[in-house]
Amino acid sequence: MTADPECLFCRIAAGEIPATLVHEDEQVLAFRDIAPRAPTHILLIPRDHIRSAAELTDAHAPLVGHLFAVAAQVARDQGVAEAGYRLVTNIGSGGGQTVDHLHVHLLGGRPMTWPPG
Ligand code: AMP
Repeated sequence: MTADPECLFCRIAAGEIPATLVHEDEQVLAFRDIAPRAPTHILLIPRDHIRSAAELTDAHAPLVGHLFAVAAQVARDQGVAEAGYRLVTNIGSGGGQTVDHLHVHLLGGRPMTWPPG
């Protein structure tokens, strides 16, 4: 398990910075986004410091599968699964990524437009 002491999400995973957790296990954390863009806005992160989805390899397949399974469970728990929701991960500054630790946004509770801005 790698961690970057300068990384905001590593520090949340370590419990050094508070967050409103909705799920926690050995591999994955889910917590409420501090600046929600939808009535339900949750971030799912691996505990491991992976900078973005662009760094993923075949070796990460179990982790990524687990992260998406957790996302589906969190969506059910939060009551947005039936209406539908969006999972999105931004990559690099051009992709809108502002925190360099892999995270999947779970957005729900309102209709989503397409394409995203
Ligand atoms: P992105 O722009 O895709 O890298 O997403 C980063 C997200 O992290 C943004 O939606 C921010 O609102 C969110 N964020 C930043 N700091 C915190 C924090 N301390 N706790 C929870 N969410 C945060």
